[in-house]
Amino acid sequence: MKRVRFGKTNLQVSKIAFGGIPIQRVETEEAVKIIRGVIDLGVNFIDTANAYSDSEKKIGLAIRGIQRENIVIASKSTAKDKNTFLKHVDLSLKQLGVDYVDIHQLHNVSTENDYNAVFGENGAWEGLQEAIRAGKVRFPAFSSHNIRLAVRIIREGKFMAVQLPFNYIDNEAALEAIPLAKKLDMGFIAMKPFGGGLLSDANLSLKYLMQFDSIVPDPGIEKLSEMEEIMEIADSGAPLTESEVQKIEKAKAELSGSWCHRCDYCQPCPQKIGISTLLGVESIIKRMPFWRASAFASNAAEAARNCISCRSCVAKCPYNLDIPALLKEKIVLWDKYVSENT
Ligand code: SF4
Ligand code: SF4
Repeated sequence: MKRVRFGKTNLQVSKIAFGGIPIQRVETEEAVKIIRGVIDLGVNFIDTANAYSDSEKKIGLAIRGIQRENIVIASKSTAKDKNTFLKHVDLSLKQLGVDYVDIHQLHNVSTENDYNAVFGENGAWEGLQEAIRAGKVRFPAFSSHNIRLAVRIIREGKFMAVQLPFNYIDNEAALEAIPLAKKLDMGFIAMKPFGGGLLSDANLSLKYLMQFDSIVPDPGIEKLSEMEEIMEIADSGAPLTESEVQKIEKAKAELSGSWCHRCDYCQPCPQKIGISTLLGVESIIKRMPFWRASAFASNAAEAARNCISCRSCVAKCPYNLDIPALLKEKIVLWDKYVSENT
């Protein structure tokens, strides 16, 4: 697998990274086999988070015995304050069984409140700098679902890498975030390269992403054969054909009324409904074990039952989604999923 320079970190990483979410659904022994298989295929870049339950532990078991310098590890912490952040870094190191991670991301800095908390006094940003001084982290990074806010943070120049959603449907980052990160020589991880498991045509997804030479997609997989397919497409270097471009346009048109980009521009909701969480529930169901999906989505599903159809969210959604109607659909889907699993 081709190696690329990951921005000003100067790390040499595989053109495709390994995303650590779906292995939560796989039994430990099998997960370890998959991760080792992925590394044998030439992937040296692994992205995880301590919010992904046992993902770090499984990765830690899989990389045991591999020379540390041969693997590039990125992890994340959702903590917004310094002390919790530092505890999370120590937890990541323990679970991964390593002395340092190469890249550590402030996880999901997506709202003004997040921004104010992480960069405020005793915020996670201070913790990240302390972890770097202590040699526990090499390079600072952040992830976000809010592309507008991310552009602002990228511009401020504090970070060496960023992770944002990017695929042929969630493509807002192509407008400004990706060119800006490239100009500032930042590493860029393309989160959700297959739309969080909802874009099933790997060929279309990969070929679309490969047009952007400064990004590294981090698909999550549950079977080694999936990574083999991904790498074959990525290695081929074949561009999108005219008919594939048309397929993408058709998919965009079909999904335009229902696809939530998780940007949270529709917030705040007076009923405190986690709109993007519930609208993304199919991806959650697909990629997480039941207990984890419940922890993630059940509050949003309960809150959504209290939607008062004020439509203040609709007015703010740049994609004109009929959010109250979509929430009703997702509640039905969620209830069915819960009843099938309890
Ligand atoms: S329509 Fe429902 S989801 Fe949207 S802002 Fe109003 S209460 Fe919240
Ligand atoms: S409903 Fe619209 S504004 Fe809200 S997160 Fe989804 S795409 Fe963004």
